[in-house]
Amino acid sequence: MSELHKLTANQLKQEYKNGKTTPQGAMQALLERIEKIEPKVKAFAHLPERCLAKRCQAPLTQKIDRFEVPGTFLHGIPVAIKDNICVKDELTTCASKILEGFRPPYDATVIEKLRNAGAILFGKTNMDEFAFGSSCENSCYYPTRNPWDTARIPGGSSGGSAAAVAADEVTMALGSDTGGSIRQPASLCGVVGLKPTYGRVSRYGLIAFASSLDQIGPITKDVSDAALLMNVIAGHDERDTTSADVAVPDYIKSLTKNVKGLKIGIPKEYFIKGIDPEVKSAIEIAVKVLTDLGAICKEVSLPSTEYAVSVYYIIATAEASSNLARFDGVRYGYRHQGEASMIDMVANTRGDGFGAEAKRRIILGTFALSSGYYDAYYLKAQKVRTLIKRDFDEAFKKFDCIITPTSPTAAFKIGEKTSDPLSMYLSDIFTISANLAGIPAMSVPCGFTKDNLPIGMQILSKPFDEETIFRTAFTYEQNTQWHTRKPKL
Ligand code: GLN
Repeated sequence: MSELHKLTANQLKQEYKNGKTTPQGAMQALLERIEKIEPKVKAFAHLPERCLAKRCQAPLTQKIDRFEVPGTFLHGIPVAIKDNICVKDELTTCASKILEGFRPPYDATVIEKLRNAGAILFGKTNMDEFAFGSSCENSCYYPTRNPWDTARIPGGSSGGSAAAVAADEVTMALGSDTGGSIRQPASLCGVVGLKPTYGRVSRYGLIAFASSLDQIGPITKDVSDAALLMNVIAGHDERDTTSADVAVPDYIKSLTKNVKGLKIGIPKEYFIKGIDPEVKSAIEIAVKVLTDLGAICKEVSLPSTEYAVSVYYIIATAEASSNLARFDGVRYGYRHQGEASMIDMVANTRGDGFGAEAKRRIILGTFALSSGYYDAYYLKAQKVRTLIKRDFDEAFKKFDCIITPTSPTAAFKIGEKTSDPLSMYLSDIFTISANLAGIPAMSVPCGFTKDNLPIGMQILSKPFDEETIFRTAFTYEQNTQWHTRKPKL
């Protein structure tokens, strides 16, 4: 197989098993691909060569024979890591100047699990600073570009991970999702992205944005690879107090190619004015495909949907302002030099270290939490959050899963929304509710616009029922060809 960079993790494993190549060979193919493509895409914040942990290199040339042994599922598979997930001794900067030069003294739990599974940690991917954004333009390094059209954004904030996978610069990747940051870039780049149930995957070692919303999840070339990666990263972790002690099923077993009798809700509130007609029609066709395969698709109402964006931007900024208080120039990364007093040093470090969007969020969040306004904003937002969750509880009494578009539009042009934060915030209108309700949601490719830009379909289900999502997504994928298209780069 000469084009190893194009393979999914499952295909690569098969190549290893058949002795056709070694992890060393796959890595070489990806490094060559990166050399050729990366100047156009800029998916990485820190390139893989610098991130290859020594201890990974010894077994790479060996033939691998322990494929199906639990814990070795990803042996020799290159996985790129979003730059807000701590990898011991490797640059981890959240694409922010304030974390310049920061190398964590420990691994995040997901990284520990990847290492134990034999994965190759393959570079740190670019992102919006501290995961604030929907376009990857808020990085302190450079904007990442969409592999389908390099004049356009890849989505965000995990835009680097999605672009790297879509451009075949890496086999699979991890992202994080607070309001859509895995699903929206996956949708815009034509790959698969899953935000697991809140508490399903440990957040230990994920640099916090909004602690009650953040989840780490897979970004992959197809649904089977997402199941594979979830098998490795999911599970209870004592080091994360919000991690759920709920048994983890074998997700590969839910890849059954059968949706007969499955009840799917289509929320009418998601087909609003402003949604691109091409996106709307792609979703309608996808629903028809599932109906033809035996699913029962019916309209459902999620009446509190219209409040989701407002609620999210109060809760997310409030939590972010609190989480970002720790970056003071004393403990991590960058420190402004030359001040005589500590107060001035902290002020100048933060003033110089944070980008414009981070400052906007810190100010908004601090305001929402300030005495006199707390009840009017933060408390009220928490109450409405409960209403949003109840909408889903009600819907899931009647339906096994819900289908919506992932994003109201396909990828937009670089620079198109940078001067209008509000219109940028609206890119997440369809993804935010899942974070507020804590439920799992996946984006799968479901079509292309006339301009050859990918469109994604979002599948949501009950807490800890990722299996229904995998089943629905896999059945859909096996009956369509969207995931096999590749961008011309
Ligand atoms: N785009 C949303 C925001 O800017 C969501 C980001 C995320 O999920 N990290 O907050």
